[in-house]
Formats: sequence, structure tokens, C-alpha cells
Amino acid sequence: MNIKENSNKKDVILTGDRPTGNLHLGHYVGSVSNRLKLQEKGNYKKFYIMIADTQALTDNADRVDKVKNSIIQVAIDYLSAGINPDKVTIFIQSLVPELFEMTSYFMNFVPVSRLQRNPTIKDEIKQRGFVKSIPIGFLNYPVSQATDILAFESSIVPVGDDQLPMIEQTREIVSSFNNLYKPESPVFTMPKALLPEEEICRRLPGLDAKVKMSKSAGNAIYLCDDEKTVKEKIMSAYTDPNHIRVSDPGNVDGNIVFAYLDAFCQEEHFKRFLPEYKNLDELKQHYRKGGLGDVKVKLFLNNIIQELLEPIREKRSYLLSHINDIYEMLFDNSKKASSEARKVLEKMKDAMGINYKNLLIKD
Ligand code: ATP
Ligand code: MG
Repeated sequence: MNIKENSNKKDVILTGDRPTGNLHLGHYVGSVSNRLKLQEKGNYKKFYIMIADTQALTDNADRVDKVKNSIIQVAIDYLSAGINPDKVTIFIQSLVPELFEMTSYFMNFVPVSRLQRNPTIKDEIKQRGFVKSIPIGFLNYPVSQATDILAFESSIVPVGDDQLPMIEQTREIVSSFNNLYKPESPVFTMPKALLPEEEICRRLPGLDAKVKMSKSAGNAIYLCDDEKTVKEKIMSAYTDPNHIRVSDPGNVDGNIVFAYLDAFCQEEHFKRFLPEYKNLDELKQHYRKGGLGDVKVKLFLNNIIQELLEPIREKRSYLLSHINDIYEMLFDNSKKASSEARKVLEKMKDAMGINYKNLLIKD
């Protein structure tokens, strides 16, 4: 499913981020911009954004302060990027205890070997140094993520493509649960992933060109980076190591600067910042042929990214003086999310036949 396909008034949208640091450009193109489009269309029943602190602790148990302090940072990133708390319920995962009871029931449907085969988990196990010893909580996070989706009866989940295996896992849990309990009136509906239209935005590479841009890999340009930092990062981004002299022919594939141009550049940017070229194809052609230096392309990219980030930075500095209001909004919304999840948990327990209050004998 991509953003062109319409959501409808019955859809519940749920998406989220781990509070392990600030949001970066990968989040922006991978999920935040889709969220903004959905928010503007307003074609949904409910829209939740969850700050996944419990999930973040599964590989940060020894860095509680980082997770705790990142909650407000991620919330400020959302608001400064344009998420509107009047249209979207932003809440904190650990403040919705219903999620943890539901996860316990769903865990019974998932073999350990299935989790070990999850390709994103496999990569992350290597990255996190968990090869010899995996915390159970970490291995189990796809099940807990399935719960986050199902607890709100979500039908649409805007994500980058590293999260596709998690949506697949969620769909398998829905099938197993519905087949076993009350197949005649299934409790859960199948959710769908919503991916960005452009391939490059589904997994934006990091500045090192090695893995996707990610908070944990330290290869990101953050939405809150100041002008100087952004410029420094762009000027040091990986390009084509064989493009040494300006006159050398260059490669645009695997070249991070061109990858970011694919994700962020529009034709109007040429008119404003690089009028000697009509469009990105022309710029690429010149680079391939030789005669176009990296610095010129990097400065062009820098102009585009600074223009995107400037209004976000401005809003951020205003929000920084309203921290208490933001926490109150988060706590309030978490209570609302908890009472929504409670309804679904009760439905789930009814279907399973474990609502013991039914055992009371009435006279
Ligand atoms: P961490 O390193 O702690 O896992 P992260 O940078 O991977 O952090 P998450 O909070 O795990 O960020 O991801 C939140 C959402 O952003 C997910 O939907 C994910 O698919 C999307 N996302 C993250 N990184 C990228 C990226 N580089 N390109 C596109 N989407 C991304
Ligand atoms: Mg991640």
C-alpha cells in the first residue's frame, strides 16, 4: 500500500518511534512525511502515534536515562515537523499497561524460531552485539509491536521498509488468534503497512553509506541539527571514492549525496539554487560524464536540506519553552489510549473465554 491509495473514515492509523534519540531525515522521508499527508487529508477514524519507550528499553536496559530523556525530544520533533496534537493522539507506550497483558497472550502464538528468522531482528542482533546472548525482551519485540498495532484495532501502519517483517508477524498473529478463538466473529482485523512511494525513502541510507540511517548507527542528520552541523555532515558524506578530480567520470549509484537528492530534490530547487541545470537527470548525467565536482553537488544538497529544516528548527525553539505543556499532553493522551486499549483487551479476553467475572453464579 502506498500513500496514493486512500485511507477511509473507518481506518485507524498507528505508527511510532523508539525514544533512543532525536528523529532524523530517515524518519522524515520514511514515515513522518506520510503521517503529515494523512493528517492533512483527515480521512481516518483515529490516528495514534506511539513513543515506544518499552521497546527502546529492550536494547537499552542500561541506558534508561537516554530513553527517558528522548521521550520529550521525540515529541518535540513530531510537533516541530508539523504533527498536530488536535488531530493525532501522541502517547507513551509504558503508560498503557493493557499492552503488556495483551502481549503475554499473543506470545503463545509465536515460535522462538519464527522470531529468530525475522530479517530485521537478525540484522539488529548483529548490530547490537547480541549474537551470543539475546535478551528475551529484544527477541520478543515484534510480538509487542504487533500488540501496539492490534490494541487499537489499527488498519494502517505508516513505516519504513525495515518494519515490513513486523507487519507480517502481526498479520500471522491475527490469523492464528482469529482461527483459534471465535473464528465466526473474528476479534482482530488485518493491518496493512503504508510505505513511502519512492523506493529511496523506504530505507534512507546513512551518511556512511553502510546501513540505513539510524539513531543507533550514529550516521544520521537530525531534524534538530543546527545549520553548521548539517553543512559539516553533508560536506563529509560518502560519495564516489574514484571521483578524485572534477574532470573524472563519477558514479551516482551508492553515492550518498545523490541518494539524498533522489529523496529530497524537486525540480523547483534547481530554479532557486542551481539554475544551470533543469533537473536531477541532467545533473546526474553531467556527474557521470565528468566535469562536475562533489563540492558543487553537496552545496546544492545543503541548500535543499537547510530550507527543509529551517522552519522545523524555528518551531522547535518555541516548543522548548513549553516542555510542561507537552508532557501534560502526553500523559493525558496516554490515559485516553489506555482506555481505548482496555476495550479491545476485554473483547480479546471474552473471545478467549478468560473473563472470569462470567463465572459468578447469578441467582
Ligand atoms: P533505532 O536505531 O533506535 O532503532 P531508528 O533510527 O531505526 O532507531 P526507529 O524508531 O526504530 O528509528 O524507527 C521509527 C520509524 O522510522 C519506523 O517506521 C522505521 O521504518 C522508520 N525509519 C527509521 N529509519 C529509517 C530510514 N533510514 N529510512 C526510512 N525509514 C526509516
Ligand atoms: Mg529501528
